[in-house]
Amino acid sequence: MVCLIANPATLPLTPAIVERARRALPENDIEWLAPEEAVEIGPLELEPATAQRLVRDALDAIPVDVCGLTFEGRRKSLLVADMDSTIITVECIDELADLRGIKQEIAAITRKTMNGELDFETSLQHRVALLEGLPVVELERVAENRTPLARGARTLVATMRKFGALTALVSGGFTFFTSRVRARAGFDLDEGNVLEVQGGRLTGKVLPPILGQTAKLETLRRLVREQDLLAEDVVAVGDGANDIDMLQAAGLGVAFHAHQKVRAAVPVRLDVADLTGVLYLQGYRRDEFDQG
Ligand SMILES: [Mg+2]
Repeated sequence: MVCLIANPATLPLTPAIVERARRALPENDIEWLAPEEAVEIGPLELEPATAQRLVRDALDAIPVDVCGLTFEGRRKSLLVADMDSTIITVECIDELADLRGIKQEIAAITRKTMNGELDFETSLQHRVALLEGLPVVELERVAENRTPLARGARTLVATMRKFGALTALVSGGFTFFTSRVRARAGFDLDEGNVLEVQGGRLTGKVLPPILGQTAKLETLRRLVREQDLLAEDVVAVGDGANDIDMLQAAGLGVAFHAHQKVRAAVPVRLDVADLTGVLYLQGYRRDEFDQG
């Protein structure tokens, strides 16, 4: 099937757009998941990738997310979400760098790392070293004032929990932030790297073991084992190169407003929708949402 998701604030999904998409496909049914926002077309005989390409071509430059999906087993039992630039709108390390007046320098390295142009662990250690001496009270201020939740984050987590899913926030960033964002967004658990602190200040080191390039995939596999699930039962969402392995392993991997390298590697992507799009992709209707 194909799921179409718009952002009503910029361009609502109209019956005309949906009809244009439907005509690109063999005869099939339409079900609205949310007026002016999300619809699904199907089931289809076509492969999801083929259906997705046909509809994307038909809609041309219209800013609507077009996702080809399998019809069966769409509602997932485990959510694994990246934090920085996915569940929150910023990169925490860039915000910390701002306190040092080196935001541009660090943000450029972060961007390259998240596009897979630099080794994740080396880049992380390099950036954290530049934060040596930063007082922990300043981290607290960043956590409180400069890490806004992305639109739809609370609704995504609350709705999946309402329907019985386990929700995990898994980050290559820092537990200082994941623990706080976990509470604000309502996740069951969180995981991240631990910043070393001495005398109330950062030492510029990350405590081992460093969660590197493969950490998120390993966490996904561990949770699947512990919960007695299959990888097909997992929905994963993220934007960076270190998310690619987990996005490809999950039954539904969603590249969310992602870097180019991720967009090229992951077939299902949201460029227009907010995080509630991850619910529509699983077939949830808006009237089933829990706002959190
Ligand atoms: Mg990210």
